[in-house]
Order: sequence, then C-alpha cells, then structure tokens
Amino acid sequence: MNNDTRSALFAPVRSLPGVNSRQEELLCRLGILRSSDLLFFFPRDYRPRPRWTRIADLVPDAEQVTYGRLADFRTSPYSRGRVANGIFEDDRGDRLQTVWFNMPGWMYNQFQLDRRALITGKPAKNKRGKLQISHPNLVWLDDDDDLPFDSESGVAAPPIEQPAEEKTLYPVYPLTEGLKQYQLHRIMKEALKTLPDLLDDVFPEDYRAAHDLLPIAEAVRLIHLPKNEEEANHARRRFIYQEFLLLQLALAVRRQQHEISLKAPMIRSADDIELRVRRLVPYELTGAQKRVIREIGGDMSRPVPMNRLLQGDVGSGKTIVAAAAILQAVADGYQAVMMAPTEILARQHFSFLTRLLENTPIRIVPLLGGQKPKTRAEILRDIECGSASIIVGTQAIICADVRFRKLGLVVIDEQHKFGVRQRARLKTGTDADPHYLVMTATPIPRSVTMTIFGDLDISLLDELPPGRRKVRTGVITPEKRAGWWAFFRREIDKGRQGYVVVPRVDETDDGLKNVQSVYDELSAGPLKDVSLGIIHGRMAPEEKDRIMADFRNRVIKVLIATSVIEVGIDIPNATLMSIENANMFGLAQLHQLRGRIGRGKQAGVCGVLLGGEEPEEAAGTESARPDARTRPRNDPKQRLETFAGSNDGFFLAEKDFEMRGPGELFGTEQHGLCKFHIADILRDRAILEEARRDAAELVRSDPGLASPPHHLLRKQVLHRYGQVLNLGDVG
Ligand code: ADP
Ligand code: MG
Repeated sequence: MNNDTRSALFAPVRSLPGVNSRQEELLCRLGILRSSDLLFFFPRDYRPRPRWTRIADLVPDAEQVTYGRLADFRTSPYSRGRVANGIFEDDRGDRLQTVWFNMPGWMYNQFQLDRRALITGKPAKNKRGKLQISHPNLVWLDDDDDLPFDSESGVAAPPIEQPAEEKTLYPVYPLTEGLKQYQLHRIMKEALKTLPDLLDDVFPEDYRAAHDLLPIAEAVRLIHLPKNEEEANHARRRFIYQEFLLLQLALAVRRQQHEISLKAPMIRSADDIELRVRRLVPYELTGAQKRVIREIGGDMSRPVPMNRLLQGDVGSGKTIVAAAAILQAVADGYQAVMMAPTEILARQHFSFLTRLLENTPIRIVPLLGGQKPKTRAEILRDIECGSASIIVGTQAIICADVRFRKLGLVVIDEQHKFGVRQRARLKTGTDADPHYLVMTATPIPRSVTMTIFGDLDISLLDELPPGRRKVRTGVITPEKRAGWWAFFRREIDKGRQGYVVVPRVDETDDGLKNVQSVYDELSAGPLKDVSLGIIHGRMAPEEKDRIMADFRNRVIKVLIATSVIEVGIDIPNATLMSIENANMFGLAQLHQLRGRIGRGKQAGVCGVLLGGEEPEEAAGTESARPDARTRPRNDPKQRLETFAGSNDGFFLAEKDFEMRGPGELFGTEQHGLCKFHIADILRDRAILEEARRDAAELVRSDPGLASPPHHLLRKQVLHRYGQVLNLGDVG
C-alpha cells in the first residue's frame, strides 16, 4: 500500500467530508482524533431496524413508522387550549393527518413547511374515516439524512429510500453530550467508504483461514454495520481474538526471554524432603501437599528461576509446603527468604519456623519494623556472611537493602495484589536469580490466571487437611443481633475465643462501626467482664506482638480487630467471628476473614452483621480495601446470603469477580494489562483459551516472532506490551 494513500488513515477526522470543527471537538472528547480512530470506535450495541411503512399502507391500531414531508400546518383554538394539525405527504403524494392537543410552544418552531420527518405512532380512523395519528413521535430529517439513526426520542428510523438489500441491525455508539447518533452514523459512513481497505492485516491469510478470522477491512465494516447478530459476532470475534492473542504472545515471549536470559541456582532436590518434613510436624501431609512439594522441588532443580503461584484456600496448609521448599534450599547450601504482607504474619511465620526447626542447627532471623538499629545491623551482617540461612520479614523491609550471601529461594506469602510482577531486585550474592514461590489464598479464576498471571506456573492445594469442618455462617440482621451476642457470650464462657471484625479504627462520618466504639459497646454489654483486646494496623509493632501473644495464650479472649487479621493468622482455639458492617467487605475478603476461625478441632461459627453501611459514600481507611467499595453493590442482604451459603473460596471469588471486575480485585489496573478495548475476560473466556494455545504454538514455531509473515504481529505486541512487560527488543 503506498504511503500517500495510507496517510488518509492518520489524517485528522476534520479531513473527512462533513466533519465540522464543532464535531471535531466532540469526537475528540470520545478519543477520536484521526480517521483511523473512527474505524476502531466500536458500537456498544445494535438495535433491530424497524420496518417502515408507506402512508398508503398504514393500518389502524398498530404502532408503525412512516415518513413524509410537512405539507401543511395550522393551529386553532380548541375548548380550553389549542390544537395543532400537521399534514405530511410522501413521495407518492399520499397524505397523513397528525394532531396535537396543547402542543408546547417550543415544538411549533420545528414545523417548517417541506421539512421531512419520520413519524411513529398508532394510526386511528378519524370522523371522516381517514387514518390519523394523534401525538406521534417525530424525528425531523435534514437534507442528507439517509442513514438510520436513533433520535433523542429513541426512535430507530429507516433510510428514506428503503434499499433493496436491507441491513436489519443498526449500531448504537457510546456518545458524548452534543453529539447525536445520526451525526456519528453519518461520519462513520464516510469513514467506512474507503479507509478500511487501507488497513494492514496483522494476520496472514492462511492464519486467518485456519482460525476463522475475518480480514481486517471486512471485520471493521461488519462490526459497524452488520446485517445480523451473527455477522456482528463474527466481526467482534476477530478483534477479541486479536486483543487476547497480543497479550498472550507478549507473555509467551517474555517467558521465553526469561528462560534464555535468567539463570537460577540448580537446587538439588533431596529425595527425603517429605520424610524430613514429616518428622517435624505431628500430622500426615495431605496428598495435595506432597504433590505440590514435588512440583516445587522439580522447578528448583532447573537452572531457570521458578515462577510459581501456589493457590490454596485458607487453612489448606500452605505454610508447611513453603517450609519444605525452604528446607530444600537450605539443605543445598542456599539462603531462603520468606516475606509476608504484614508484620503480624511475618512474626507468626518467624515463630512457626523457629519452633519447627528448634532442634536443627539452621539459623532463622527476623527482619521486622521496630528492631533496634544495633540488632538490625547484626542481623544484616549475619545475612551477608551467610550464617543466617532463613530470613523472615515483611516485603518492604527485605526489599530495601539486604545483601545476601547466597540467596536461592524467595517465598512470598499471602500475596493477592500483584500482576505480572517486576521481580524485586534482590542482592542475591551470586550471579543468578532466586527461585520465586508466591502463595495466595485468594482463589483466582482461571481466566484471570491465564491473563494477568499468564507467566506463572500454578500449583493448587485442592485438599484440606482431614478433620476440617466448614465454618457455619449466618447473616445477622438488626433484629437478630441480641440473640447473636448472647450466643457469642455463651461460647466464650465455654472457653472458646473469638474475633470481632470492624471496618474502621476511629470514628468517621460515614456511620461505620469503629474499633473503639465497638469495644465500649461490647465491654459494657454482651461481653461484660470478658477480657477484650484491640488490634489494628496503626499500632506499634511491639504492641501488636504483645496483643497477639496474649490472644494466643488465651489471656485475651476476644480480639476486636480491623481486617489486619485477614491474612494468615493461625490460632486454632479461636472459633468465633463477628463481622460488623459486613457488606463493606468483598466476598473473597470475607472468606479470608472467616478463614481465621475453625482451624482446630472445633467447628467455627461466623456471624456477618448487616446494617449501617453505605458503601458508595464510605471514605477509605486502612481496613476495608478501597476496591471493596468502588462498585455499587447488589442487595446487601442477598450478597451476604451468597457468602453465608458457600464455603467455596473459588465460587466466592468468581462472584466477586463478576461484581467487581478483575482489575479492582487483583490490583492490576495500574499496569494496564487488563485494559481491553473490546474483549472481556469473563464473557470471552473461550476465545481467551484459544488465543493462549495459539500464542504458545506461534512462539514455539517462530521464537521471537522473527519471521516475515509475523512481522506486523510482532510490531503490535511490542507496541502494546513492550513497555509494560519490559520485553526489550524481541527477536
Ligand atoms: P494456610 O494455607 O491458610 O496458610 P496454614 O499453613 O496456616 O494454612 O495451615 C493451617 C493449619 O493447618 C495449621 O494449624 C497447620 O498446622 C495445619 N495443617 C497444615 N497441614 C496439615 C495436615 N496435612 N494435616 C493436619 N493439619 C495440617
Ligand atoms: Mg497462610
């Protein structure tokens, strides 16, 4: 295609016939600057195009659309108001009476003789036996209006000359104020005349044939003006597929690059690692745990960095799996790091690993906030010289400035907010990258793992340790509160412990419960004389530590907490949970919270308390995640019933996902991986799977997409994802 002709694609929209400067400005607001932008400004919907009827063919008592030119217009006084009569005449000279009683003043001006209009209404016989329409809906046509359009009144209208081969759908575009459907239709029609033929097709012809993809020009034309649903879908399919394929290619290429450029230590897998772990814990590992330990062992013995996501519902026993991986690294002379998102959890992991390995010479050090500078300096030295083998801390602290002697493995626990991650640059002490194991209890729908987490290997802990009981959950409406607290009290008196989760730390003007007021309320009422404790994210680390220790030792019976307790905390004697303003939390988050109880022999009971929350207006604080509130909720009671009715984390995550979208759920909005123009990872999952397979195949057969037929594809991948995914120069 020669460049002069092609430049029409990139010309400003103003260069299209019929686009004036006012319209240019409006189009700009829709993000349409160049002519080619118009082609890719897709309809948001299609409407069936109504048939229209000539005046002579109108029948009484059925709504019909007809058209004519205004041949006469008069108004006359009529009892208490005025009556307006308009006569429309069509191209064959047939005439139609229309009548309005008390026509509003602004309408008069529209009635100019010879002006054409589409007239919608139900004709009825008048006194003289002729058909007449009272108060019809009018859409005035300007001279060159020959496209269907959707007027302000929502009437879909046919072209004045009904074409022989009729398209039965017309497109509906998202608009901006001041721009009308019919105006955009007119502009589109202009753009669609020749521009689509100038587009380059990224897909070679045989590829299109093999994958049922329309050529680009045809797809563009049909997505704007399809004859029927089937054509529209066929056109959409091409664009959806293309979007998915680009992302999948980018991920596949990135993976390929990693395999080539990144080296990792080959950690020998000790055959007896399962046995060794078995000796350290008082229980038998589940089948799933054994399987995953082997998967991880296999990864770590390869010279390429492991990049594995371990998914397992709350309580599925991920910690011991991580411990097994850590032991394996340490046994082969490498250091291992375990990172947690909160101090509380980091401390818990530290004490767990310390207890687990107390009879071994392996040295474990904590790296936490609030450590004395001297202590910290010593620890850092021990890490650098290699006398400390296992380092446990929060992510922020470990990523800061720690030098390792020989780092082989990094475990990141309870990560639910990450996408295709920029690997933390750790000073590993060797010239190799460490292996990464990321663990999460947030069940991630498969369609999401395929896109956002597309470059990770996934292990699933799909088996709970034996004897686990489901947490019984109930929705506590305001009338049931008193009964619920009485029950809660009885259980505490039997020796159980519990959590009370509250969305806010301090009083806020959104009317949500806060930790202090709930403390006051409970200690004066239902939980009088019970020893209560408070914990939230703003407390000093030592303070949190002390409180958690007291709770673990049962000095504190009930812990009033923000959602800081959401992740990882493991205290088997705690069997009760009461969640205030429960509708403030996402379903997956509620499931996480609920996962804190029922971890021992006793079944857990969880009450989700309803009332008082107004999600849309709530202001953010540390506790309820901001994303939990940005979308309007379904009916709160029904939503909580859904939660109460299921103990399946995957199911709840899917529900959450449907309600809130992937970006908000997984914090991926910032890197734009999930920003699709037309594709939808939920609705179009089948195409996504297809694109994923095809991308793998393409990259296998043509590494780096270097061959000439894939040149355009490669260009687009780089253009779209080169930066986000740091692809460098592919091929
Ligand atoms: P999570 O996957 O939520 O991180 P944890 O690793 O904290 O789960 O394990 C939850 C509880 O289950 C812990 O108390 C742990 O000791 C126990 N546990 C883990 N694996 C088993 C098993 N195979 N049999 C019995 N209990 C187990
Ligand atoms: Mg855990």
